[in-house]
Amino acid sequence: MTKQFSLKITSILIIAIIVSSCNSKSNTDTSSKTVTATENPFESKIDSILELMTIDEKIGQLNLPTSGDITTGAAKGSDVGERIKEGKVGGLFNIKTAEKIYEVQKIAVEQSRLGIPLIFGMDVIHGYKTTFPIPLGLSSSWDMEMIEKTARVAAIEASADGINWTFSPMVDISRDPRWGRVSEGNGEDPYLGSKIAVAMVNGYQSDDLSSNNTLMACVKHFALYGASEAGRDYNTVDMSRIRMYNEYLAPYKAAVDAGVGSVMASFNEVDGIPATGNKWLLTDLLRDDWGFNGFIVTDYTGIYEMIAHGVGDKYAVSEQALKAGVDMDMAGDSPSVPAAFVKTLKESYENGKVTMDEIDTAVKRMLTAKYQLGLFEDPYKYCDFDRAKTEIFTPENKAFARKVSAESMVLLKNEDQLLPLKKSGTIALIGPLAKATNNMAGTWSVATDQEESNSVFDGLKEVIGDKANVLYAKGSNIDYDLELEQRGTMFGKDIPRDGRTDKQLLDEALQIAAKSDVIVATIGESAELSGESSSRTDLGIPQVQKDLLNALLKTGKPVVLVLFTGRPLVLVEENENVPAILNAWFPGSEAGLAISDVLFGDVNPSGKLTATFPRNVGQVPLFYNHKNTGRPLGNSEGKFEKFKSNYIDVRNEPLYPFGYGLSYTTFDYANLNLDTSAINMDGEINVSVEVTNSGDYDGKEVVQLYIRDLVGSVTRPVRELKGFQKVLIKKGETQTITFKISVEDLKFYNSDLDFVAEPGQFQVFVGTNSDAKMMKAFELTK
Ligand code: BGC
Repeated sequence: MTKQFSLKITSILIIAIIVSSCNSKSNTDTSSKTVTATENPFESKIDSILELMTIDEKIGQLNLPTSGDITTGAAKGSDVGERIKEGKVGGLFNIKTAEKIYEVQKIAVEQSRLGIPLIFGMDVIHGYKTTFPIPLGLSSSWDMEMIEKTARVAAIEASADGINWTFSPMVDISRDPRWGRVSEGNGEDPYLGSKIAVAMVNGYQSDDLSSNNTLMACVKHFALYGASEAGRDYNTVDMSRIRMYNEYLAPYKAAVDAGVGSVMASFNEVDGIPATGNKWLLTDLLRDDWGFNGFIVTDYTGIYEMIAHGVGDKYAVSEQALKAGVDMDMAGDSPSVPAAFVKTLKESYENGKVTMDEIDTAVKRMLTAKYQLGLFEDPYKYCDFDRAKTEIFTPENKAFARKVSAESMVLLKNEDQLLPLKKSGTIALIGPLAKATNNMAGTWSVATDQEESNSVFDGLKEVIGDKANVLYAKGSNIDYDLELEQRGTMFGKDIPRDGRTDKQLLDEALQIAAKSDVIVATIGESAELSGESSSRTDLGIPQVQKDLLNALLKTGKPVVLVLFTGRPLVLVEENENVPAILNAWFPGSEAGLAISDVLFGDVNPSGKLTATFPRNVGQVPLFYNHKNTGRPLGNSEGKFEKFKSNYIDVRNEPLYPFGYGLSYTTFDYANLNLDTSAINMDGEINVSVEVTNSGDYDGKEVVQLYIRDLVGSVTRPVRELKGFQKVLIKKGETQTITFKISVEDLKFYNSDLDFVAEPGQFQVFVGTNSDAKMMKAFELTK
């Protein structure tokens, strides 16, 4: 049901005329691409609105509070409701349902002086109610079409609930698994990260932002948030420009090139200036160099936090943020936050510290976004009360999520083909995560109904039916340390602490194990052990669960470890002792069914890691596309060499490299071929390789191509991903996989920050992970 847009206050009829005069055109005028200032089709209408606005109303457009105390039917009397009436709010976030949003929008449209509609944002990160794997998991699918579809499904569901703007995709490159937010991103590689950024933006925004089932995307956190020192959240970032340009910025730029509507500034500093107030970052680079024309929102209280960063008082930080290019201030107007656009900008204007022009520029960008979303055409267009009933958490969406989850899992080890399991005999399902329904969606799943996910226990029962017996024991708590356990199970993800002693829990598990043919151990991190403000210095499975696992191994029964994690973990002992390890990440609302599909071979796992798994925390940051150094190791066995770049106590290589992941079948690579051994600057190389499925199952393989630039004016990484294809190869079949390498793939930023390809020798590696050995060389000539 779409309500009519009406304005209550007759004295501002003029704006209604402005609004309706542009409505008729807005369908054709609006596209998912952002618009440049000169070609902004809404400019004249926006200018006419600006003329009517007071300074308070203008600053109000830049204000993004949380929905706070609003419950259905109570919007009017709420604090936020009052401020909306006064025209002091530009949008709201963390509010959902078409009914509630309708109610709030009605206040803005009918009771504020100018009736300007609000924008409604939310962290729709990896699905909405239908929840897909955490982004790090999703990235492990390497399936761009599927990833785009997850964003499309999320957009349909969220918009059916009244939302029109999502704080996603998060594309921060991270090489540090101590950082809890590594779970929210796509891993360590800028090439893959860029492809995923594009897929997500396209999925959310589709080709018409004004359609009622698309969301405006917001790429975040701009920029470099994933490189916080020591992996501690919100910590300082310090990085050379050349590293930024070559290794960290590409995914943000890819999102901009794909037409992302908004950008979120990050909490960290860049070059010693908080990103939120960094003009070089937000204006010179983002707008002037990259051509971004959407709006910039701060992260939560980002402006206020600049005081603690130490760059000025409450006036100075707001002024700096505005001048740097920020348009919207998130969560600034809560009572505990003194520094915010709504609280200081008017005074700053009166004192001559900011100009009306600077304020107007930000307001224009906010109004443009609202035009693009079609909100001036119909402010209630996302408030169709019927849609939620038929478009959210549908059987089709759930079936899709089940498939996506299974595609995202990474088989880390499978000795003697222990997996897939047979649907027969007795299976002991043991571990504190086996029935933890509310943890399956993982971090940042604000719209998930935690209890409606399926647990591994539910999934096994459903998939096996009466073909096999499933016995269950919890086996242990999440952690010996109750406090740490509570920090890791917040936000409705509580896993009630068992009243029994550790020994009683273990004994029960061992009794059950004794009666079974195989043990499935569901252990690892609980959902909130990763995510925002969940940095860890210990990257192991919590000790109590390790002890449980070791006790289970001692029974001599075959053990399959189904691992839950939001980050790369240190799994050296597990890799040594456990015959089969399936990394399920946090698979989303269909977790249990998807895990069961993989365990029993209904789906052959095909996920590949997008972040390196280290051997110990001391190796971090550890990533495949590192530099060679002047003293690289001279042996490939990882043996220690004095006065070479290595450690005295651990070898250099990771436990599992970037791109790694097994299948129930095996793939053999042969006949890597380049159609030429030299190209010039206009040339192209065709690469082919034969991949044979030599095992017993049909399976999907992610064929990966890496390039090394052997000599450069600046040092170049030992290899860089430059192509990949996920292909289904039937058992016994051989496929010839082809790639094209163009000069674009050979370009990098030199010390002048020019994007160039330099003549010289290159190597091409193709294989099943970043450690691919098969190599051919070519030369780039002038
Ligand atoms: C996070 C953002 C998120 C915002 C709004 C912040 O704490 O850093 O990623 O979008 O909150 O919920």
